[in-house]
Amino acid sequence: MGLYKAEGVVLRTRSLGEADKIVTFFTHTRGKVEAVARGARRPRSRLLGPTQLFTYGRYLLFEGKNLDTVSQGEIVQSFRPLREDLDRMAYASYAAELVDRSTEPGDRHEGLFPLLVAVLELLAASDELPLVMRYFELRLLGELGYRPNLSGCIRCGASRAPYFSIELGGLLCERCLQADAAAVHIGDEAVHVLRYFERADPGRLQVVRPSREALAALETVLPRSCAVRIGQPLAALEFLLALRAAERG
Ligand SMILES: [Zn+2]
Repeated sequence: MGLYKAEGVVLRTRSLGEADKIVTFFTHTRGKVEAVARGARRPRSRLLGPTQLFTYGRYLLFEGKNLDTVSQGEIVQSFRPLREDLDRMAYASYAAELVDRSTEPGDRHEGLFPLLVAVLELLAASDELPLVMRYFELRLLGELGYRPNLSGCIRCGASRAPYFSIELGGLLCERCLQADAAAVHIGDEAVHVLRYFERADPGRLQVVRPSREALAALETVLPRSCAVRIGQPLAALEFLLALRAAERG
């Protein structure tokens, strides 16, 4: 047991006692870490800022038997818009919940930390929040080892395969549809967007401008693909969908 340094993002916080909080971090080198931040809810605490939700910071932590303790923290990026704008907060909460639910303490998932930071950056600044989220879902599936097979029909290899099977984790062509009665027709454009997502860096995301139809098609398959792999209902996803329905209504 001892002190260690970690770069991390605050995924979740819970109040503890009078002034403490329990912080769930996703860190670069240790994956998910839970730690107590003593006094962090006091207005003048030096840990107040660095332990706010969605903050990306550098931390000094002390290993404990059950929970670690946050000893010091400094903010790398505060991502303030994610806490001040309801839409951005709903998306960031969903992204954080996906990471929280799909990883266990100690799982490292090398590529997930830079992906999460890049996506929070985009969610804090972009006007294309659903697009950013669909990108994150697809890349998260890849990081977790569930990358959908997008090269063609997963049954016969046909390159034109406009159906997406959540259960089989890939595309199907018209002729092979019987392989999954629940496969969803997403269309050729949505397939192209998925293939672009698969190879594009987050910084290249502003280059794609999918039609509303293609984005809507991706929204019918990617959130469910994540939920199925994670195997639990996601509270933040439900909230986000309710918020979007209210905006449309
Ligand atoms: Zn086929």
